[in-house]
Amino acid sequence: MKKKQALKTILALVFGTAMASASAAATDPALLDAARTQQASLLSTLKDLVLIESGSADGPGLLRVADYAERRLKELGAAVERRQATKGPGSIVIGSLKGKGSKRFMLMAHMDTVYQSGILATQPHRVDGNRVYGPGIADDKSGVALILHTIEMLKKTGWSDYAQITVVFNPDEEVGSPGSGELIAALAAEHDFVFSCEPNGDGYEGLLMATSGVATATMTVKGRASHAGFEPKAGRNALIELSHQLVQTQDIKVPGAQLNWTHAEAGLARNQIPASATATGDVRLASADGGPRLQEALREKVRTALVPDTETTVEVSVGTPPFIATDAARAWAVRAQAIYGELDRKLNLYPASGGASDAAWAGRSGKAVVLECFALSSGGTHGKNEYIAIDSIVPRLYLLGRMMKEAGAAK
Ligand SMILES: [Zn+2]
Repeated sequence: MKKKQALKTILALVFGTAMASASAAATDPALLDAARTQQASLLSTLKDLVLIESGSADGPGLLRVADYAERRLKELGAAVERRQATKGPGSIVIGSLKGKGSKRFMLMAHMDTVYQSGILATQPHRVDGNRVYGPGIADDKSGVALILHTIEMLKKTGWSDYAQITVVFNPDEEVGSPGSGELIAALAAEHDFVFSCEPNGDGYEGLLMATSGVATATMTVKGRASHAGFEPKAGRNALIELSHQLVQTQDIKVPGAQLNWTHAEAGLARNQIPASATATGDVRLASADGGPRLQEALREKVRTALVPDTETTVEVSVGTPPFIATDAARAWAVRAQAIYGELDRKLNLYPASGGASDAAWAGRSGKAVVLECFALSSGGTHGKNEYIAIDSIVPRLYLLGRMMKEAGAAK
């Protein structure tokens, strides 16, 4: 409760003026009607998707869900291309539609889930009141379904005020997009708007304004081996040196980066002075230059050795970059709040989240307006009771559809 209150205060401070002007405008009744007519078919698409298990390591499952997505995109009139992920199993499905307007849109969602093969036996697809349960139903099959049905809805209303709509479905978001992140970054840079469709929280719907990046710090110490009993002094103990370096770097302060050493290894045998030792650390990034800065600061620190003749090296490698909404994206997020207000629903703008997402890849070049979290309201993601809220389908379709219409018509 306290946390919510604090968040509200921050939001009011950051977005105060904008929120005041984001009052309810006139709804788009034709679009709202079109959204309502999509609800039943979206639910059936979602069921199809959930019944195809597609964990990040499940090559055949990822292939089947990609085949399904490709077929559905083709039915919508899209030209579809498949690209093999550069690392890991699965392929990336890229659909493209040409319109008569001037803006280029990219819509993205991921096809993989965190679940192991066979999960449907214990966590089946089931409907209970306003909720539909199933593994991956929210994260992120609701994103895939929302994109397919937003396009269908817009087509049915006759909207063609776009130059290009590119749909990207990738197979590896849950493991940091090692085989699709670079492609997402490159494609996003060629678009005006990227709307990323990760799920929303049930009861706290919103758009994410920032996510932290994730990096790995690796510290390696080279020493010299010797017999631990006969001539320990002839050795150079890499384990002792590593311990020294961990202690002296544990509280390192660098703007935009947070480091915690989490794993270490050293030594081969009890009776040998260890010649090498390695530690890895978890790094969270709040700014794009946080990783390089941290690496520089660590390298400076480790110059002071405890054990003579040892050599310590440090590497910080960035896995997922951080996502920070640009000023232009923030302005569009405020538009989204006004659109949601048309349905008497509240849309929060969340300043930051500990999680990472593909919005970070899409936003890397800073060229496109990138917004995250357009998919359905949900709960229990990555857990035993993952669900989507049925009553969020129409509002979410309306929100994304209306954002595209407004953005398409923008100067
Ligand atoms: Zn996700």
